[in-house]
Amino acid sequence: MHLVLAALLAVSAVWGHPSLESRTTSQVYKSCVKTNDIALTFDDGPYIYLRNIADEFTAAGAKATFFMNGNNWGCIYSDDRIASVKHAYAAGHMIGSHTWSHPDLTTLSTAQINDEMFRMEEAFSRILGIKPAFMRPPSGYYNANIKKIAFSRGQNLALWDMDTGDADGNNTAQSEAVYNDAANSKVKNAVILQHETEEDTATKLVPYALKLFKSKGYNLVTLAECLGVSPYQAVGVAQKQSSSWTCDGTPSPGTGCGGSIACKTGTPAFSSSSAPSGVVPNE
Ligand SMILES: [Zn+2]
Repeated sequence: MHLVLAALLAVSAVWGHPSLESRTTSQVYKSCVKTNDIALTFDDGPYIYLRNIADEFTAAGAKATFFMNGNNWGCIYSDDRIASVKHAYAAGHMIGSHTWSHPDLTTLSTAQINDEMFRMEEAFSRILGIKPAFMRPPSGYYNANIKKIAFSRGQNLALWDMDTGDADGNNTAQSEAVYNDAANSKVKNAVILQHETEEDTATKLVPYALKLFKSKGYNLVTLAECLGVSPYQAVGVAQKQSSSWTCDGTPSPGTGCGGSIACKTGTPAFSSSSAPSGVVPNE
């Protein structure tokens, strides 16, 4: 009898293990949780259309989600990009990481993956004073190691369940058909992929999607809202711009650190809003 009990306890201990194990790796979110929510997500910026897209959402009483790079379609530290990133964030749109230089993360080493995430965290900490809670891997490519690293950096992975194909050669009508299919089939909810870097997306698709989904009674919310979680690990205060805010000497688009570019693997400085005035925190 004791042996049976011991065996049952052993089995329950094994059964209990997976829940512990799930907390050592990131979750991968591909769809919303809440009914009637649509999260329209925009990758590859900040670019020249960021301000327009953010303003279109704001005017419609809707929220957008932007997964940003540091050095892809230009440098996030240029004055114009800094201003538009601050503008979108201040309007309540969600900001997430899309890695520094948009490489295929599955081809990089652990040090290179950490570097790609570190540099984005550093940029958001400097420009906005936030720690991102979500990372969208470029092209949606990820593996177990990437999930583990993201978890160690406090971030879950954000994918999507509908793709407009706006950066893959779809014309405007083809991309609009993706929205129409979702609306006409009365989809329960959706995380939809667009790209901030496409002019037609900014000028045609966004107004079309906003009008269509609003007319069908959907809530146009951020990814975090449709999941019912926080968009950020922490919200502090932005830092003062300095000459160290540069893309010079960082991985160029599509590549990782290494060679003459030292890989950064620590945790970037973060200014908490609760820091006493006159003290420069985390330096
Ligand atoms: Zn991308």
